[in-house]
Amino acid sequence: MTHTEQQHFSEHLVATYRHLEAIGLMELATGNVSCRVEGGMLISCSGATAQNLTPDRVVFVHEDGTWAGDIKPSSEWRMHSAVYKNSDKANAVIHAHSAYCVAMACNNMPLPGFHYMVGMFGGSDVPCVPYSTFGTEELAENAGNALQDRAACLLGNHGMICRGANFDTAIKNAELLEILCKHYVLARQLGEPDLLTDEQWDEFFGRAKKVAYSKFI
Ligand SMILES: [Zn+2]
Repeated sequence: MTHTEQQHFSEHLVATYRHLEAIGLMELATGNVSCRVEGGMLISCSGATAQNLTPDRVVFVHEDGTWAGDIKPSSEWRMHSAVYKNSDKANAVIHAHSAYCVAMACNNMPLPGFHYMVGMFGGSDVPCVPYSTFGTEELAENAGNALQDRAACLLGNHGMICRGANFDTAIKNAELLEILCKHYVLARQLGEPDLLTDEQWDEFFGRAKKVAYSKFI
């Protein structure tokens, strides 16, 4: 990766972080953003906020988990790294504590197939992996495995993580998951929402292929 490339990706990463904050998905600077680059990944620094994150505070973490310099990567770098190792579709990863995702995750509830848009993440639900302490290898492994065949998952008693083919797709997935969790919470207030049947899912995925919904996944 040339210096110019690193600068370009770092600027885009900062813009993504600020956009997530602007749309309310990065409250209290609790999330982090990364992208895949040659030889490793770029990730927001430890202690990043929308105000203090600048391109020179984006950290290059090598594939072997090492980095140079005094600025530390986000404590969740292992989780981001595991997603890139597990899915070649991942070029950008967002981790956030967005409100409705946290509400679901704190009940350790997967998001069930109550709405066809849930299928945009690659299956008939969005899983919720069990709680592990932040920054641990265990959390990284669980999230990495969940994101092999889904574009997002909930993290028990914690938040969410999603991937995308680029920054924009990852932002869309983070927004979509938050909105769907909100819809589900609202629907649950009225009763027990009906879930789509297996037959309805088969039909959805058949149609989704034709209209290229799979670009999200
Ligand atoms: Zn977190």
